[in-house]
Order: sequence, then C-alpha cells, then structure tokens
Amino acid sequence: MHINLTAVAKANAGFLERVKAASGQDVAQCYQCGKCTAGCPVGYAMDEPPTRIMRLLQLSLKDEVLNSNAIWLCSTCATCTTRCPKDIDIAGVMDSLRIMAKREGRIKAVRSIDLFNDVFLGSVRKYGRVHELGVGMGHNLRTYKPFKDADIGTGLMLKGRMKLLPSKIKGQGEIARIFNEVRKLEEAE
Ligand code: SF4
Ligand code: SF4
Repeated sequence: MHINLTAVAKANAGFLERVKAASGQDVAQCYQCGKCTAGCPVGYAMDEPPTRIMRLLQLSLKDEVLNSNAIWLCSTCATCTTRCPKDIDIAGVMDSLRIMAKREGRIKAVRSIDLFNDVFLGSVRKYGRVHELGVGMGHNLRTYKPFKDADIGTGLMLKGRMKLLPSKIKGQGEIARIFNEVRKLEEAE
C-alpha cells in the first residue's frame, strides 16, 4: 500500500500533540528498540503491536492507530512501560488512545470489548470490586449471547471460585470519589 506521509501529516496535524497532552508521554522519544513488543503478553494477537503503534503515532497515521485492535486488546499490564529504556508509559498511551477511539465512535469492530469495559467498570463503580458473575452475565446479555460460557460459570460457582452474590468493599466512598474525579477530568477536556 502506498502512503503519502506528507499528506497524512498535513491531514492529521495536531494528532500527535493531542496524544501527548492526553497521555503526558512523548512518543517521539521512542527509538524502536522493540522491548515493549517483546514483553507484551497479547502482542501476538495484536494487528499493530506496541512498537508499531509508537511508530504509527510518530508518523501521525491516526486511522491506523485508532482503528487498530491493539489498543483494545491491551490489558494495561504495564510490562511495556517497565521495560521501555526511554521511560515512555506505553500502557498510559494505550489508555489515552482507547479513550480517543471511543470518543470518535471507532468501536464497531471491537464492540464486544468496549461493552466488556463498560460492564466491568460498572461493577467496580457499584461494588468497589468486580463481581465476576454479574460482569459475565451483563456482557452476555448486552452481546445477545445469554448462555455463552454458562457451563464454565456453573463449574466455577460449584467449586466456590465465583460468588453468586456481589459484595461491597469498605471504602466505597473512595471509589465514588475516584469516579467523580475522572468524570470532572473528562468534562474539563
Ligand atoms: S500494557 Fe498493553 S501493550 Fe503494554 S505489555 Fe501490557 S498488554 Fe502489551
Ligand atoms: S520499549 Fe520504548 S523505546 Fe523501545 S520500542 Fe517500545 S516504546 Fe519505543
């Protein structure tokens, strides 16, 4: 595929600066050593592993970055961040890219992952921790697959590995405060 980088840079002017402002990271510092990708546990499944995401960002290839499945498969494990010799918080960059992609409605191909994020965070907001059964059932219902993995869930419950009912943590107020702070930050952007 032929890409006119000059035209792309012109069309996506400001994109790199927006990523920098959102993540606080200067991806221009990346010198493509590949350590982030070498340690990434889900890099094998990504269309654009972390090293390539960094390079695509440097080239302002916005569509390639924001339409990639990589930013959604990233589990925020931060292995890449701890390995980077340039101290770039790549996990933080991935987070910012997910937010940008979602705001631009670029979630069609990864709708299921986006829904999982919503259900997962909803559980944390409500209980202060994840209620696995509720998250699984919530995701199944929202993806119209009510009985998906029902056998696995039943097995886990019978072995006491998954609780039927949710329980709340003690510091519930702190969780509410964190969610409020995040909402304020979003509104200020
Ligand atoms: S934070 Fe994301 S990109 Fe980095 S190593 Fe973990 S899964 Fe891979
Ligand atoms: S580890 Fe850091 S410098 Fe190396 S490729 Fe990844 S982001 Fe770039």
